[in-house]
Amino acid sequence: MSIAAPEQAKLPLAPYKSLANSELTERIQAVRDRMGPELLILGHHYQQDEVIALSDLRGDSYQLSRMAADSTSCRWIVFCGVHFMAETADIVANRPQKLAERNGTRVTVILPDMAAGCSMADMAAIDQVESAWDDLAEVVDTADITPVTYINSAASLKAFCGRHGGIVCTSSNAEAVLKWAFARSRRVLFFPDQHLGRNTALKMGITNAQMPVWDPHADAYGGNTEAALQASQVILWKGHCSVHQMFRAEHVHALRKAHPGIRILVHPECPQEVNDLADISGSTGAIIRTVQSAPAGTIWAIGTELHLVNRLKQEHPEQEIHFLSPVICMCATMYRINLAHLCWSLENLAAGAPVNVIKVDEETARWSLIALERMLQVV
Ligand code: SF4
Repeated sequence: MSIAAPEQAKLPLAPYKSLANSELTERIQAVRDRMGPELLILGHHYQQDEVIALSDLRGDSYQLSRMAADSTSCRWIVFCGVHFMAETADIVANRPQKLAERNGTRVTVILPDMAAGCSMADMAAIDQVESAWDDLAEVVDTADITPVTYINSAASLKAFCGRHGGIVCTSSNAEAVLKWAFARSRRVLFFPDQHLGRNTALKMGITNAQMPVWDPHADAYGGNTEAALQASQVILWKGHCSVHQMFRAEHVHALRKAHPGIRILVHPECPQEVNDLADISGSTGAIIRTVQSAPAGTIWAIGTELHLVNRLKQEHPEQEIHFLSPVICMCATMYRINLAHLCWSLENLAAGAPVNVIKVDEETARWSLIALERMLQVV
């Protein structure tokens, strides 16, 4: 479907907020029907169920970007996730090879609510990382440091890694990426998630004593001594996921006591104390596959975002699935993408006045892609 010129007046958001979900669902479906395969609505695993029900593809952030980029018909992506995911989709879907395949036509990426950020990604700003890099240069040879950014980061940080011989990782390939980095350099600067960096490096035999934490708000050297930085193998950025940070060792102990034989399955963004006590630690994809392949009757406590755990419970009634924490741990920013925002962004798009378009500038996209492509060569 071709849409009208983008100069049309934008529809205001406020009236959508008072509509019932049934009406919003109907109107969203009407836009989907009208736009056909040119439109892809992507639903991250942590999204609420009503949004997932209206998504064309469900997955984790990188998986969704790749699936959308591989679509030959897609011209519009509405990403029901958070800001860095929409940036990654823009970079991957509009990389030179894909643009050439589409004779230069860009895919436009839309984030239904611009306030859907990621608290972890926000913990590492590009100026902080550049300043840390300069400070590190006073103490160690930065030519011997590989910067590694978790994909949950702003495009500017991926570009930083691209420019400095570094690489991107996901929670499913972090170990392979660290091995790649150590084949090239003596040290790694890992950001923004200290827990994924630490849990992965510990598995590889690196000790906590070799992993100083860099606090971007500390007065000097990220709060470390020169000696600690010189003895380091992995310098961990002091960032975390506000959702996975909430799981505690006492939650594991309480569930093991209440349900003998229970299996503890967690995401490696959880703190070390939880990761160490778990039976299995793995990415979102690994968590889903583990539950899918387990025998009926398996008892699980799962430490990851609440919407995903609840969906696994619904989809696997043959298993007993508990949420690892007694309190709600959900991604509040992802939750901002509700049916009202989705309907508003879709109807604006269909009316030829796209809102909340995410477009990474060319230079940042080019260097980010280099860091992403290095990752693809590793795994
Ligand atoms: S779950 Fe954590 S890492 Fe994922 S988007 Fe939400 S805040 Fe960011």
